[in-house]
Amino acid sequence: MVKHIIPNNLQEALEVLNAGPCHIMAGGTDLMIQKRNTAGTPPKFTKDVCYIANLEELNYIKKDDKRNSIVIGACSKLEDISHHPDVPDLLKEVIREIGSPGIRHSATLAGNIANASPAGDSLVALYLYDAEVVVSSVDGERIIPIEKFITGVRKIDLRVNELIKEIIIPLLPITKYKWVKVGGRRADSISKVSFAGIYLVNFGLVSDIRLAFGSVAAMVARSHELENSLKNHTIEQIIDDLPRILEESNKLISPIDDQRSNKVYRRKVATNIIESFIKGMK
Ligand SMILES: Cc1cc2nc3c(=O)[nH]c(=O)nc-3n(C[C@H](O)[C@H](O)[C@H](O)COP(=O)(O)OP(=O)(O)OC[C@H]3O[C@@H](n4cnc5c(N)ncnc54)[C@H](O)[C@@H]3O)c2cc1C
Repeated sequence: MVKHIIPNNLQEALEVLNAGPCHIMAGGTDLMIQKRNTAGTPPKFTKDVCYIANLEELNYIKKDDKRNSIVIGACSKLEDISHHPDVPDLLKEVIREIGSPGIRHSATLAGNIANASPAGDSLVALYLYDAEVVVSSVDGERIIPIEKFITGVRKIDLRVNELIKEIIIPLLPITKYKWVKVGGRRADSISKVSFAGIYLVNFGLVSDIRLAFGSVAAMVARSHELENSLKNHTIEQIIDDLPRILEESNKLISPIDDQRSNKVYRRKVATNIIESFIKGMK
């Protein structure tokens, strides 16, 4: 029989994880679905469950002025993050479209990351911001860029005795951002295609531009090479470069057919979105 363990503090949680393999449960909005059983019967957990949602030590959203970043504790709820004044507007907008109010009051950003779903909405924004994931164990901490932390579909670089402690999001100067989520309906839907783009204009030149797609590849699709090739150009030059941008974006993505959509639709929509983003730059 599996045990349900509720540690009182972070140290206790780390000791529980160090003692043997456990399912970490925060909001449970993914885990309970993945482990669901037939109606009226308990979920199918095969390992003990370490329930961390009540760890106040991991419930914080704070600005780190030294690193010019916002740091989000693993147990902060999506709802709180979506209202915090220091959280970048793009991430707030993304989070407000995740699930429903009930889900957002339980779910965490760390859970969205650890779930490593190709359709995980927050990941698109976190990749754009070059967020870092801080993992903790009785042995100490590791700080891992999100692009390295997520290693595949539902695969992450997390050791058996570690948990995500916090997420560091650098604060970037931005002229304009865009978030597009295409789902089956306006609320409480899983993305068929998603896109986030940001850019910064300095003295008439685009000094930073970042483009990322979700739900159209195993992991978030972002090309530093493409972005670098667009930097230090005027907006007009970037718009003139649209055919190449579309070609490169198309190479980046590898959509699939699944129960929510098909690859032809996903590719077409992704192309339309990036075209509209580039043409809308000003
Ligand atoms: C109705 C519904 C609608 C949804 N809509 C969306 C949507 O629109 N967009 C979207 O992206 N997602 C959506 N989701 C998925 C889900 O709500 C999110 O992924 C959520 O952020 C998961 O957070 P959680 O705290 O509930 O994670 P949990 O379910 O508790 O955990 C998820 C995974 O993360 C691991 N985990 C959790 N916390 C930690 C930690 N601190 N350290 C290490 N591992 C950890 C768990 O072990 C588990 O593997 C939806 C889910 C439901 C049920």
